[in-house]
Amino acid sequence: MNNNLNLKLKVWRQSNPKAVGAFVDYNVSVSPDASFLEMLDELNNELEKNNQEPVVFESDCREGICGTCGMVINGEPHGPLRKIATCQLHMRNFKDGQTIWVEPFRAKAFPIIKDLAVDRSAFDKIIQAGGYISVNTGSAQDANALPISKDIASDAFDSAACIGCGACVATCKNGSAMLFVSAKVTQFALLPQGQPERQQRAEAMVAKMDELGFGSCSNTYACEAECPKGISVRNIAKLNHEYLSAKCKSTNVEA
Ligand code: SF4
Repeated sequence: MNNNLNLKLKVWRQSNPKAVGAFVDYNVSVSPDASFLEMLDELNNELEKNNQEPVVFESDCREGICGTCGMVINGEPHGPLRKIATCQLHMRNFKDGQTIWVEPFRAKAFPIIKDLAVDRSAFDKIIQAGGYISVNTGSAQDANALPISKDIASDAFDSAACIGCGACVATCKNGSAMLFVSAKVTQFALLPQGQPERQQRAEAMVAKMDELGFGSCSNTYACEAECPKGISVRNIAKLNHEYLSAKCKSTNVEA
């Protein structure tokens, strides 16, 4: 028996960054067990069979780790379920006959390349500005040489869970990257390895974020709600603290 779902798709098609894009209608019949990306693969197979251009979208690991597969599904980055990336969304979460709107992450700092693929290299530039640590290369250090409490290790790990997908930017009405930047700054600020560049890191990453056209924090917490890794807005409070104390130190003002 065929249990396939019959769905109507409205997919954003845009041939290049400067072209005018539009939603294009497609009908798909897909297994409820297929992932959202597998559903798009099937759509593309059909398009290619009919000599039509496939829909361009990004994906890599397809297990919620790499952060490349972001798209907006029915108005929400990564779709209707919480704490999963697009690749972890399965078609059984949609109803037979449902219409699904699929569009790219939209933000000034993430220009559209083609269809659903956007250029998120702005995130790489923010990381290059300060998202690194100084290490002595050589043989691996003994794990017990740097004792770190369980609470600190857990908090640092929670911040480090950010996969750089950009959903926080796409959902923010200001296109702010504060959740992303704050997660990166916090993961280093909590650990001894992050101390050497701690001050310049916060200043440089925030300055780069502003330079690249990301907006200010909207304080709506939409970023936390849509983040596939559940990164908390508490990281933003930590970033504000890091940034202010770095500014005070660099301008010789007492905090
Ligand atoms: S903070 Fe969350 S939504 Fe933003 S880039 Fe990281 S994983 Fe994606």
